[in-house]
Amino acid sequence: MASQQHEKNEIERLDREYTLGTWTRQADFNPTQIADTEGPRIVTADGDSILDFSSQYVCTSLGYDAERIADAVNEQIRTVPYVNPGWSTEPRARLSEKLAEITPGSLKKTFYSTSGTEANEVAFKIARSYTGKHKILSRYRSYHGATAASLSASGDPRRVVQGPEIQPEVPGMVKGPDPYAYGSSLDPEQSLEYIDEMLGLEGDTVAGVLVEPLVGSNGVLTPPDDYLPRLKEIAHDHGALLICDEVMTGFGRTGEWFASTLYETEPDIITMAKGLTGSYQPLAATTVTEEVAEHFEEHLLNQGHTFSGHPTACAAGLAAIETYEEENLVDRAKEMGAYLKTELEALADRHPSVGERRGVGLHQGIELTRSEEKRVPFERREDKMSGEPTVLNEVGASALSEGVYFYTSVNTIVVTPPLTIDEDDVDEAIAALDVALEISDNAME
Ligand code: PMP
Repeated sequence: MASQQHEKNEIERLDREYTLGTWTRQADFNPTQIADTEGPRIVTADGDSILDFSSQYVCTSLGYDAERIADAVNEQIRTVPYVNPGWSTEPRARLSEKLAEITPGSLKKTFYSTSGTEANEVAFKIARSYTGKHKILSRYRSYHGATAASLSASGDPRRVVQGPEIQPEVPGMVKGPDPYAYGSSLDPEQSLEYIDEMLGLEGDTVAGVLVEPLVGSNGVLTPPDDYLPRLKEIAHDHGALLICDEVMTGFGRTGEWFASTLYETEPDIITMAKGLTGSYQPLAATTVTEEVAEHFEEHLLNQGHTFSGHPTACAAGLAAIETYEEENLVDRAKEMGAYLKTELEALADRHPSVGERRGVGLHQGIELTRSEEKRVPFERREDKMSGEPTVLNEVGASALSEGVYFYTSVNTIVVTPPLTIDEDDVDEAIAALDVALEISDNAME
């Protein structure tokens, strides 16, 4: 198994020497080389095979063997590898049509970019132009991206870690409370009422209410079933659009194509990335309803990227959606999700340091606690960027040494495997957690 302190090979040394790592002090940037992949597993240069229960930041929903995508990308590179977005290409046209088919209701037209961050920035511009208003309301336990506006719309600790004097937040961003019954003094119902009140207090100047329907990296927060439809009503009552950031939850992860469908809601705008191509190519999308699209028939859509609708990336997107369909992966996520839920709940019963299991389909997580009664976190939000190892990090490292990789974030072990996993994979992951959670159990008050 991948040891934490292994001898660095040449690639790791070069990478360490010449690459600036993301979200880290460079002194802490010490990456292990991944040299191969197989099914739902990544393989280190030392030959250690690791079962990937993170899908790499919830990206590789198709696992690592999607031949159809490899073929489609290969063929596209050999025919039309790139033209600027002013031209039409078959993969872009067909992907846009396909997205209109699988997104809820009247969502129809798509603008392409290359990252979830950009997809959200584009959504802000669209909402502002459509409503004639300028503010964006989002929630504290959220992550929407890394550039100025998307990061300012995030409630994630990353938005403030450099200090506001170094990275000022852009104006016009307002934040409301989350549907987080376990760790907040407001219940989800009160949190909705609060947002309703806030929109009024902002003088109805909010263009878009931006939410992850099911929060990802800020703790896998699952709202009550009627939360999202009610949020849409509240947003519309105040003249704002509902923007659902489905960068993590899209493409079958919750057992529906989109989490918005799960909550029977048709957002005005959906943003997506990650699962769109299974991350075989970088591609993101902002899809809007027919009504919102209609606005831009006569108004300038004042936005563009050189790589918007990149043919090779769109070919990967189309092939990815065909793979989800052909292999019935959306239904499979529902089935495997039910099994995973049962197993995680049994795990929670065995380990007092598991405070709560949350999530739907293959988008689940367990929140840890130092004290069952007081719900004291092992990792506070501000610890996320401190670089100091926390008990949560130790639990993650222990699971990794058992051969299973989990993404750990804000006191939560995020459980988001590829949609291609089977019951044996779940059993292997649970066995690793059973060992790893001894650490948090023993660290309780
Ligand atoms: N929104 C959500 C919900 C995300 O989880 C992320 C990335 N983890 C983003 C937006 C930003 O996407 P990207 O990193 O591709 O810019």
